[in-house]
Amino acid sequence: MNELLRSTAAPTGRPHVVVVGGGLAGLAAAASLSAADVRVTVLEARRRAGGRAASFEDPVAGGLVDACQHVAMGCCTNFLDLCRQAGLADALRRDRTLWFIGPDGDRAACTPSRLLPAPLHLAPLLLGMRHFSFGEKLSLGLGMLKLARYREPAAGGAVTTGSTALSWLQSAGQPERVIRLFWQPVLESALGESIDLVSTAAARKVAVDAFLAHRDAADLFVPLEPLGTLFGERLVAWLESRGVTVETGRNVTAIERDADGRAVAVLHGDGRTPCDAAIVTLPWRQAARVVPDLVPAADERLAGSPITAVHLWFDRDCIDLPHAVLVGRVSQWVFRPDAAEGRQPGYCQVVISASRGLLGNDREALLAAVVAELRETFPAAREAVLLESRVVTDPTAVLSVRPGVDAFRPAAGTVVPNLFLAGDWTATGWPSTMEGAVRSGRLAASAAGRQLGRPVASLTADLAKNPVVRLLTGSR
Ligand SMILES: Cc1cc2nc3c(=O)[nH]c(=O)nc-3n(C[C@H](O)[C@H](O)[C@H](O)COP(=O)(O)OP(=O)(O)OC[C@H]3O[C@@H](n4cnc5c(N)ncnc54)[C@H](O)[C@@H]3O)c2cc1C
Repeated sequence: MNELLRSTAAPTGRPHVVVVGGGLAGLAAAASLSAADVRVTVLEARRRAGGRAASFEDPVAGGLVDACQHVAMGCCTNFLDLCRQAGLADALRRDRTLWFIGPDGDRAACTPSRLLPAPLHLAPLLLGMRHFSFGEKLSLGLGMLKLARYREPAAGGAVTTGSTALSWLQSAGQPERVIRLFWQPVLESALGESIDLVSTAAARKVAVDAFLAHRDAADLFVPLEPLGTLFGERLVAWLESRGVTVETGRNVTAIERDADGRAVAVLHGDGRTPCDAAIVTLPWRQAARVVPDLVPAADERLAGSPITAVHLWFDRDCIDLPHAVLVGRVSQWVFRPDAAEGRQPGYCQVVISASRGLLGNDREALLAAVVAELRETFPAAREAVLLESRVVTDPTAVLSVRPGVDAFRPAAGTVVPNLFLAGDWTATGWPSTMEGAVRSGRLAASAAGRQLGRPVASLTADLAKNPVVRLLTGSR
């Protein structure tokens, strides 16, 4: 009843917010604002929304294939909440087992316990790593706990840069094999950047949020439908059913301001869309072109990290696991979509994070190396004929979360009271991920809602940490 009274008492004349960019940040912002009695228009430059979580036409069977496999984890509470709200939860398969294939081809099915309380839930996962000796497993467990207690050094209020993950792991006495066969693949997959570049703070976030925090934290959520369908069609259709207008093919060039500097319209091609507030959700380089006074061009403090996806179409199925981390190899993570997902039999994808300079940037050499590794690892691939392949590299796939970078990630609010920033590179406390993007969109929507007098729901809570985890990780 109170809710009803509140909503009928809301100010009349719905304010109009224009969201620039239809990636996950923009779509999440639109979703939050549409629940707050705000008229929302999303302007997206490409023909399909979804941004970097995108698909292309399958050259063998037709239909869509993801430009790069995306996965979420149980700790991605805002991304999962958005999917639940939009009715997309059925299109995410939840896997508890992570498969690691060691350098000798040993397979380890690593499954956190459903019964043991955190952080003991990780014991079966750790013990399942057959490629490590007992001593190495112990070092790994202790190293994870030590990393969880890492704090950025404070230097009398000055911004300090902290250390890289690799230097911290070495100084913490982690054995070389544990670094190379666990920390490297895990941190590089989670952060999209190499461990000699990422900050220890970012590595700590992975250790705490994705492993130690909760027994559901490390669950993997794997899309069962192409990302282009999931976000470019289903999420957009859901937003439209809530009154959001999504206009594709609108390349935004500038934000028009009035004499007081307030945003009054968004300019695109020959078009002009008036607004009461605008949220710019573009990656930093594109944002710098649209709002140059808010995001400086060529900001060298922000760097991108490349991710490569190697798409392979064999004449038969040859990968007998849904996904596996291939430790100590060029191929980091192989994914085989289920036949139930309506994909071409024989298709699989290998994802390589932090792929800059890989094999001298020689695509043929990379393809040959990946196919050879799959044939070494999966016996059925030895007989299989490769029909088609694609190597897709996004050179700035994610923000490189180097030491000190958080000091340069802007918050949602800007000096212009009705102009807001979002995107996975902004200050969310999260690495560049779908979760980071959704959080950024929600934070910007909250800030815009506050400015317009339309309260917007806040972020979904993190997975609850029990008292032992809070004590061990020094969290509140
Ligand atoms: C290869 C690869 C693999 C990844 N793997 C994972 C993963 O496994 N798990 C995970 O969580 N995350 C992953 N990510 C990261 C994830 O895709 C991003 O963090 C997220 O999609 C970013 O969303 P965003 O909305 O911030 O930005 P974007 O997705 O980049 O959206 C920005 C949108 O703005 C549009 N745009 C640009 N310029 C203009 C303009 N002038 N006018 C109008 N529109 C414009 C773009 O077309 C785009 O749609 C991966 C990313 C890549 C590239």
